[in-house]
Amino acid sequence: MSTTPDTTGRTTGRAAERARELDAADPLAPFRDEFLLDASAAGVPGVGAYLDGNSLGRPLRRTAAAVEAFVRGEWGGRLIQGWSHDDRVGDGGWMDWPTDLGDLLGRVALGAGPGQTVVADSTTVLFYKLVRAAVDHGLAAGRDEVVADTDNFPTDRFVLEGVAAERGITLRWIETDPAAGITAEQVAAAVGPRTALATFSHVAYRSGHLADARAITSVVHDAGALVLWDLSHSAGSVPLALDAWGVDLAVGCTYKYLNGGPGAPAFAYLAQRHLGVLRQPVQGWMGHADPFAMGRGYQPDPGVRQLISGTPPVVGMVPVRVGLEQLERAGIEAVRAKSLLLTRFALDLADELLAPLGVQVATPREDGARGGHVTLRAGTSGADFREVTRRLWAAGVVPDFRTPDGIRLGLAPLSTRFAEVADGVAALERVVRGAR
Ligand SMILES: *Cc1c(COP(=O)(O)O)cnc(C)c1O
Repeated sequence: MSTTPDTTGRTTGRAAERARELDAADPLAPFRDEFLLDASAAGVPGVGAYLDGNSLGRPLRRTAAAVEAFVRGEWGGRLIQGWSHDDRVGDGGWMDWPTDLGDLLGRVALGAGPGQTVVADSTTVLFYKLVRAAVDHGLAAGRDEVVADTDNFPTDRFVLEGVAAERGITLRWIETDPAAGITAEQVAAAVGPRTALATFSHVAYRSGHLADARAITSVVHDAGALVLWDLSHSAGSVPLALDAWGVDLAVGCTYKYLNGGPGAPAFAYLAQRHLGVLRQPVQGWMGHADPFAMGRGYQPDPGVRQLISGTPPVVGMVPVRVGLEQLERAGIEAVRAKSLLLTRFALDLADELLAPLGVQVATPREDGARGGHVTLRAGTSGADFREVTRRLWAAGVVPDFRTPDGIRLGLAPLSTRFAEVADGVAALERVVRGAR
């Protein structure tokens, strides 16, 4: 097919103009200037349109300063004394950071009251600890099944396979539509008297489908089981109300929408009512009721600190705090409002520019069923989306590729401009046309 410069030019022009209007009317626009936007690395082309904030958020400028201040003042200045409370500096020691930061995260992003959240480990490790705790609890009551869905993130599925082998339980898989996600009806049909635990992603990593966490939690509870939500793609993007929804357990990343940086520590939520009832298996000295007693026999901390095992990643928590403080100033409701406008804009442009080429939208169109990213599939376009992604990266447009044929546009509301969406979709259109 020959290109039609007139039409394309005009459409792209309209998209750019619409993007300018949306950016001008965006109440969160000033927050973007808080990010380190002018950074570059030798040999790597600059990023013009960053559309992968759902995989790795951008750093804040304050983060660079805060990490340096920590190294010089806290680590370098206090050395081993930094672990303990010190009246001279008026600071609780690093020992308290996992729970203090957990409380901040609970308040700003999770809808969780204090004393139920820790920041530690990776999402994978925390997921393992909570799954094992729930499975052991269920087994004691004769419940030997875990319900999950086939489109959940690989690490979750792999951990479940491992726990099933370890504990001799059965995994009951719900087949979900990869262009949608888990529904309360599907869960109701799968849970029963043998279910110990049901676990799902709140926002599906592939499609961006937003599950009805309140309804699903209640369906799981009706069957007498516990629910564990993976919030990796919702924390910092979608308002959460873990306490109000009656959620039992949750985990998630801080390096996606929370901008904590590569490998930043994860978080786990354990509802107050389960403290002292559920028990996680990785018993380490840092989760002990009195770590420095160094005595015989493990005695878990009575609080949520019991979820911790070894020495917490303190340096990695510095950027997480900076990100959460920014989110608190912006407000999660405002973030969600912009997120919906960003994804709506991306969907409109995809319909206008990419659908005629055969590209398919694999993200729910209903606002209430959509998280913070938009997934496009190669469909009948004839383009190899892995190769398309490579060319986009080389051109400074950075979405990500997910097998088998998806390109995800991750739109982080605090750092993404509507102009980036317009530029990104226009670049995608050019590359797909060229690849046919
Ligand atoms: C990103 C992501 C993870 C990542 O787990 P890590 O232990 O940080 O590698 C886990 N679950 C979901 C749903 C994710 O999107």
